[in-house]
Formats: sequence, structure tokens, C-alpha cells
Amino acid sequence: MKIKTIVTGAAGRMGKQVASALMRESDIQLVGGVDLKNQTLTISSGETDSLLKITTDLPALIAKTHPNVLVDFTHPASVMDNVRCALQSGVRCVVGTTGLLASDFDEIRSLCDAKKVGAVIAPNFAVGAVLLMRFAQIASKYFDNAEIIEMHHDKKVDAPSGTALKTAEFMRHRDQAVQEEIAASLESQPARGDDVGGTRVHSVRLPGLVAHHEVIFGGPGQTLTIRHDSLSRESFMPGVILAVREVMKLDRAVFGLDALLDI
Ligand code: NAD
Repeated sequence: MKIKTIVTGAAGRMGKQVASALMRESDIQLVGGVDLKNQTLTISSGETDSLLKITTDLPALIAKTHPNVLVDFTHPASVMDNVRCALQSGVRCVVGTTGLLASDFDEIRSLCDAKKVGAVIAPNFAVGAVLLMRFAQIASKYFDNAEIIEMHHDKKVDAPSGTALKTAEFMRHRDQAVQEEIAASLESQPARGDDVGGTRVHSVRLPGLVAHHEVIFGGPGQTLTIRHDSLSRESFMPGVILAVREVMKLDRAVFGLDALLDI
């Protein structure tokens, strides 16, 4: 039995590439796409081009196609409506959209528990970015001082990136007193970045960039730099496909691709 999948945001930069990637997998069947206007997209799965009909009506598409999984790459303002609609219908979710709030995570957790279905919510589906977070977590045990620079294309709507927020969360066990002292001393210096749980985060937005994260640790006489670059959206596809397969085995929500990897 193939995993019947629909993509919300299917006409977007990520959605189009995700739709193509899903079509290449023999155990996954792409059964529809949703975006803000009805249209037909040409999706290239490498050897062949296929037409994908895009609808604006997610509830009707779910009722018609009975998908197993919804993959969402839309917008922070749209994602929760899509996820609610899917989970309430018992459709599992793979969410790549960033900019969700802590209250959104709580709601997804409750909806999954109520329906006993899985969801994977990940701010970054590139395995290299997951490793960056893990390495930063390890390094933060040994360095009290660190800053994050995240750089993205100029069309990205949220800042800081979901990956930077999650990385800062992983680094939280650094000495809190040191972090509070740094934050207090920088209150009147906006150029020193935003304070995310005691870590300064700097967001750069420029055409030409895709998704880049750098964590710089500093200690007496040394620095340590951990950097990951997504040079194209191809970098996210293996993680999305893994999540579509793994979410079928879950009966709860998991947050971060690391939850599905042996890292
Ligand atoms: P995009 O603007 O190119 O695409 C978003 C698409 O969603 C657009 O086509 C838009 O019309 C559509 N859309 C908006 N509201 C909708 C709704 N209610 N229903 C259906 N479609 C709707 O953006 P993008 O660059 O493809 O990024 C999409 C999201 O994915 C962003 O939040 C971005 O930060 C995130 N992202 C995550 C990862 C990851 O690995 N998790 C990687 C890249 C991008």
C-alpha cells in the first residue's frame, strides 16, 4: 500500500520541489496539492513531467482522496488551519513551515494525542542542519559564550529562523548567570542581535542565499565555529521523505528531525 500524500503550499518554492521529490518515491503516491489559487502545475520527477492539479479547498481534497499524510510548506499565518483540518480528519502531518508559536506546538500535541495519529514538525529537514544543532549542543557544555548568525533568502517571512531558535534552545544549558549578564549589558545595542534564551541571534536576509547557519563559540584564546549551508532546496528532500515514511509509524507529535534519526 502506497502512502497517499497531499502537499499544502504546493505552488511555492518548497512545495513544488517536495511534490517532485515525493513523485519519485515508489512507496509514496502524491494524490493532490493545495495552494491559494486553482491551477495546474507541471511537476518534473526527473525522467517524466506530470501535471498536478492544485485546489484551494483542503477539506474537499481530504474528503475526496483520503490521504494518509499532509505535508505543509505554507506560511506561519496558514499552517495551523491546515494542520487542524488534517489532524481532525485523522490525516498525519509533516510540517516544514516555520514561525510556529509554543502554543501551536501544544495544540498539535493535543490534537495528535486525541486522534492517536502522528505528526513531525521540523524547522529544518536537512540532515546537516540537524547535526549542526547536535554539535552546538555538545559544544555549549564547554563554552559559556556563543552567538548564532542565520542567513536566508530575502523572501523568508520569519526571523529569527526556526533552526536558529531550536539551536538556541539546545544551547540553553550554558551558564545562565553569564547569559543574563551579557543580555543586560546589551539592552541598548540592537545591532548586537536578538536575545533568544541567552544567545544573541543575528538574522541576515539577502537574494542569492538559501539557508545558512553559523554558531560561533568563544572562550579564552579560542573560537569554535560550526556552520551549515543549504545550497539548494534539494538538501531538505531526503528529510521530508523520511518524515513521510516515519510519521506513518507514530501516534504522537514529534518536534525536530533529530527525533527520527539516530543522532
Ligand atoms: P513560498 O512563499 O515560496 O511558498 C509558500 C506557498 O504557500 C505559496 O505558494 C503560497 O501561495 C502558499 N500558501 C499560503 N497560504 C496557504 C494556504 N492557506 N493553503 C495553501 N497554500 C498556501 O515559501 P517557501 O520558501 O516555499 O517556504 C514555505 C515555508 O517553509 C516557510 O515557512 C519556510 O520558512 C519553510 N521552510 C522550511 C524548511 C524546512 O526544512 N523545514 C526549508 C525551507 C523552507
